[in-house]
Amino acid sequence: MTERIREFLRNRREDGPCVVVDLDVVRDNYSKFARALPDTRVFYAVKANPAPEVLKLLADLGSCFDTASVVEIELALAAGATPDRISFGNTIKKERDIARALEIGVRLYAVDCEAEVEKVARAAATAGVAASEVKVFCRILCDGAGAEWPLSRKFGCVPEMAVDVLEHAVRQGLEAYGVSFHVGSQQGNTEAWDQALGSASAIFRECADRGIHLSMVNLGGGFPTKYLKTIPQVEAYGESIFRALSKHFGNRIPETIIEPGRGMVGNAGIIEAEVVLVSKKSRDEGEVRWVYLDIGKFGGLAETMDESIRYPIRTERDDDHMAPCVLAGPTCDSADVLYEKEPYPLPVSLEIGDKVLIEGTGAYTTTYSAVAFNGFPPLKSYVI
Ligand code: PLP
Repeated sequence: MTERIREFLRNRREDGPCVVVDLDVVRDNYSKFARALPDTRVFYAVKANPAPEVLKLLADLGSCFDTASVVEIELALAAGATPDRISFGNTIKKERDIARALEIGVRLYAVDCEAEVEKVARAAATAGVAASEVKVFCRILCDGAGAEWPLSRKFGCVPEMAVDVLEHAVRQGLEAYGVSFHVGSQQGNTEAWDQALGSASAIFRECADRGIHLSMVNLGGGFPTKYLKTIPQVEAYGESIFRALSKHFGNRIPETIIEPGRGMVGNAGIIEAEVVLVSKKSRDEGEVRWVYLDIGKFGGLAETMDESIRYPIRTERDDDHMAPCVLAGPTCDSADVLYEKEPYPLPVSLEIGDKVLIEGTGAYTTTYSAVAFNGFPPLKSYVI
């Protein structure tokens, strides 16, 4: 935890769980990405944490923005980004939202099938924008192996289909701009980009055979943040990606962009929460300790779904003896359990009213928090 967050929490008036995000950490992360991938443009994935202060800082630092909706586009614009620094990276868009984005001036769109290409072309006509000014990139499937939060199946087409999708874009008068993929979020394997870049280069070659000259590869997100396990440094990702680009594209490396979300803001945030109840329950396997916090899956910790993301949790009693417990949230929904399959070690002396600090919570927390489930307010967010 940074000294700035510690100081902020000491002085805050207690009013339920909150996340505190330290902008110095975000600034540091941005410069690490810029140094590790010097020839690559950064499109911050707004969905990870759309706090206006975070977006403003990144806009000032020169970042571009990957957005998933018109609301995110408007947030990026409000933070100072111009439309040419914004991509509409969701492959599932309403035609009227594409038209709105085009009216706003956004010209870069993700697609993964011919139907989405046709929506972009029709929306351009509706918005009175020349199709030739609109760039589309085709997202290809990635199995997400090695990632703790894989994004496979739902997005992207098989590489063989991408060439047809891009050719379809050209038939509609759009600019076939490139290829994108996402190797899965919290990707611990620095080599994970290699295979996808092999597929991307094959698509470039096949498109060229059909007279279509692509310009860009979108390397997506996937860069991890520190939870319990040690993760490779951003430099290692940069080196591995550069090696893979050279291997597959030789001396004709295309324009590249990255879309980091978790890796940009995850370690910048800490949630302070409170123990509401500690109870012992008899089960077939013996007595089990349950610890209930005032935050759970519906208060922002949705990424504990399947227990895939395991956050580091600190308390003031961490020098005491530790024992595993089932950790749960405060709502009346039995799904609101954070860790049960693999119980979480917490101090045996933990008591009602104790504070806990949940680290690595700068990404994918505030936006996952329900507005008023069970009457609990959404997660408060402070950016310092
Ligand atoms: N780009 C796209 C299109 C995404 O859908 C996501 C996450 O869902 C990201 C980037 C950010 O990924 P990460 O947080 O793993 O960096």
